[in-house]
Amino acid sequence: MPTFTTPAVLLRRVEYGDFDLILTLFTEATGKISVIAKHAKKSKKRFAGVLELFTILNITCQTPRRSGLPVLQEAQLEEPFAAIRENMLHTAYASYWAELVATWAEEAQQLDRLYRLLVFMLAGLDRHQMDPALLNLIFQMRFLDIAGLCPNLNYCCVCKTGLDNLAHHVSGFDLPRGGLRCHCCGEDDETHVCLSRGTIKQLQWLAEGDLNRVGRLRFSSQGMNEAQRFLETFVPYHLGKEPRSLKVLRQIRPVMNVPAPAVAEGR
Ligand SMILES: [Zn+2]
Repeated sequence: MPTFTTPAVLLRRVEYGDFDLILTLFTEATGKISVIAKHAKKSKKRFAGVLELFTILNITCQTPRRSGLPVLQEAQLEEPFAAIRENMLHTAYASYWAELVATWAEEAQQLDRLYRLLVFMLAGLDRHQMDPALLNLIFQMRFLDIAGLCPNLNYCCVCKTGLDNLAHHVSGFDLPRGGLRCHCCGEDDETHVCLSRGTIKQLQWLAEGDLNRVGRLRFSSQGMNEAQRFLETFVPYHLGKEPRSLKVLRQIRPVMNVPAPAVAEGR
């Protein structure tokens, strides 16, 4: 039977029957794939404890001749990212990103930019190099761009006035239209979210700036709250469902000991 070998991030692990696991993995070359790991549930020896969420594995699978999932033959640990799983809050962020990828991506659709983004973000989370709340904003903005769901933050979606020419510092956001709605064009529905001009510019920078430099951006606590509320409303709205992991993240974030974001330095 034909086999294939590829590096892959483990996104999801579901028990199948008494012995097996079905794994959802994300690869650079072939996007999201599902494989079955036989006897992985009971036998500790079979995959020697490497099938942990968010790890990068080098997997070898056998493709069945007829129907059925590819069967995992070997899995070697490439990047354990163990520090993520030791921290409840970091686990919640990684779970949210993994669920966004697993929910949105089609099977076997190459999404190499998204793969590289996810790996970069998981590495940042693992090494405690950046504020995880900031990483979460970066991931969501760039995920939306790759998914073709990028919010229009450049001008009012009704009167087309550009961001820098808007009379008021704070704009609304029209979720169904996916764009800013200026003060003059009013708010006429319940799906309105408010954003200040400074936060909008910072979000634009997170989406477009050099990935190695955007992590240095500092949000005020008010800006962080605004950006967080906006993205965590916008993403589920356009995904068509509220990710379960986002509910968990929302529950545990306030009770974890999170240092307050530093005072804004601008971009
Ligand atoms: Zn307007």
